[in-house]
Parts: sequence; C-alpha cells; structure tokens
Amino acid sequence: MARLSANRKILHADCDCFFAAVEMRDDPALRDIPLAIGGSVARRGVIATCNYPARAFGIHSAMPTARALRLCPHLTLLPGDFDKYREVSRRLQAVFHELTPLVEPLSLDEAFLDVTGAERFSGSATWMARWLKAECLARTGITVSVGVAPTKFLAKIASDWDKPDGLTVIPPARVDDFLLDLPVKKLHGVGPATGACLDALGIATCEQLRQVPLERLVEEFGKFGRRLFELARGIDERPVKVERERKSISVETTFARDLPDLASCREALAPLCERLEERLARHGHPALSGLLVKVRFDDFSLTTLESRGLAPDPQSFARLLEQAWQRGRRPVRLLGVGARLVPADERRQLSLPF
Ligand SMILES: [Mg+2]
Repeated sequence: MARLSANRKILHADCDCFFAAVEMRDDPALRDIPLAIGGSVARRGVIATCNYPARAFGIHSAMPTARALRLCPHLTLLPGDFDKYREVSRRLQAVFHELTPLVEPLSLDEAFLDVTGAERFSGSATWMARWLKAECLARTGITVSVGVAPTKFLAKIASDWDKPDGLTVIPPARVDDFLLDLPVKKLHGVGPATGACLDALGIATCEQLRQVPLERLVEEFGKFGRRLFELARGIDERPVKVERERKSISVETTFARDLPDLASCREALAPLCERLEERLARHGHPALSGLLVKVRFDDFSLTTLESRGLAPDPQSFARLLEQAWQRGRRPVRLLGVGARLVPADERRQLSLPF
C-alpha cells in the first residue's frame, strides 16, 4: 500500500480544559480551586469540563454532577456561558485558518489542521505548532496543546501526550519507535469491547499487535481487523475534512458481552445519555430538532429510531429504546443515542425578526 501518510503534516490542536479555562481567565479567583462547568444535580446534569484541581479529586468530563459533588463537596460548579465559549472558539478557529484553509473542527475547542502544503516557517510543522500555541494564547488567553504527526490518529494521541500546554511532535522517522510501546487501547476506534477482546488475546501494545497476521485480525474483528493492522503500522489515510455541516451528534457503545434483555439495555442507557450530554456541551449546545436511538442485535441486524421534537432527556431515550428493542427482541451488541441538529440555514431563518 502506498504510504501517503509519510508525506503529510497534520496538527491536532486541543484546548486544555476549555470551558473551565475561559472562566479562569475571566475570574482569577477560580484559578486554583476545583472548578467544573456542568448541568445541575436537579437536572441530573453531567460535567462538561473541569480544571486540573478538580481532576485531582477524580472528577472528569461526562461524569454525573451528583457524583462529582460527592467526590469534592466544595467543587465550584458553573452552568457555563456557551455564547462566550462560541466567541472564543471563533477566534481560535481564525488563528487555525491563518496557517491553512484545511481545518476540520471536531468541537468548539479542538481541530485537525493539514499543513502539508503550508509555506510559512519554511514549511516546518513544529514551528507552525509553536506559533499557533503562542498566537492562541496571546489572542484569547487560552492554552492549547498541539500534536504534530503524519496522520490524524497519531496527531491526536500526540496532543494528549504532554497536556496541559503540550507540544509533541512525531516526525515520520519516529513513528515506528513511537508505536512499539503504544498501548493498543490508545488506537482510534478501540473501545471497551475491542479492548477486552485484545486483552484476552494477550495483546497490550502495538508491537504485540503487529505480530498478529492480517487474516487472523479480520477473522476476529471483521472489517475493523484491517484497520487495526494498519494503525499498528502507523497507517491512517483519513484526510482532514473541511467544514462539512454536522447533521447530528451521537455516541455509541459496543458491549464486551451482549445485553440479554430490555432491562439491561435500559441500565446501559444512563452512561450513554451522560456522554451525549457532554458531547452536546462540547459543541456549544446547538439547537436540536429530534432524537435518535440505534440498536444492533446479536445477529448484527441494525435498527434506528428517530423522533422529532423531543428533549434529550433519559425518559425520552428510554421510550425510543423500548420501541427499537421491540423490533428485534434479541440480545443487543451495540447501543447508540444521538440528537439531530437544526440545519444552519433553518437556524438563520429562525433568528430573523418578524
Ligand atoms: Mg480539549
């Protein structure tokens, strides 16, 4: 296979505890105390972001707020000012676009940049990353961690490598070495189910994964087996995709063991709803037009159910789940929940004055 990857320069930029960082910037009294942005306990909310002092208590994003307050009763909890976060995000994105038009935003505070053809700094991706970090800090007061690599999945791992305020560069010549010790659980798309399966096969690192023949991986993981084979070798040809309009936001889980009945599906719903709420916050709480639930049964049949006009609360998802499950009435491999977004042109019409 042609190694296009080896010639690309991808940056992954990711703000450090973004919403919390904006609040700490605007109110220095919040800087050294445990702080989280999230929904209230009364609304059964979840934590969208928290700062490092809060993380020291074991708090993390997508955790129910009630649990976070049990871990740290003196936690300062703010509901979040998403108009303000969107404004900061716009200024960050403007910095990104000064380096390259090839920017793929993943959420308000995170993006891939393809700087392969960028000419500034004599084409040095490392210097571009340094400039980007300094410029974002100067213009918004927010620190950004950046990863530089020949592929998307490695750039994303690299930005997380030395957080906060990190800059990790994996040049093409170091990709192989970097991968050898990399835990397979860090690979793009390896969730709890695949992780458990790899564990059972005694595969913990990419070096061990490379020992497994392609045919064996395909046998074990289907299509994803080929992907694992490639990722272990640093191959990831996914391009940086510019600004396609996002139509929905969803999360899903493939279970290590099939869920036998509707009751166990209902139980699995709560953590999914929490992850979805956190994801919606990361996108600045966009306007929603409906909900969707996705169920894959143990015979691999797939059903999705959508409903317009419902709020994304656990009760609505529970009702949709029940209807979707009735279509198969079998053990369940995968559950997903999501929300449809109001298209941008409709949003603009909605905001027109009468
Ligand atoms: Mg971030």
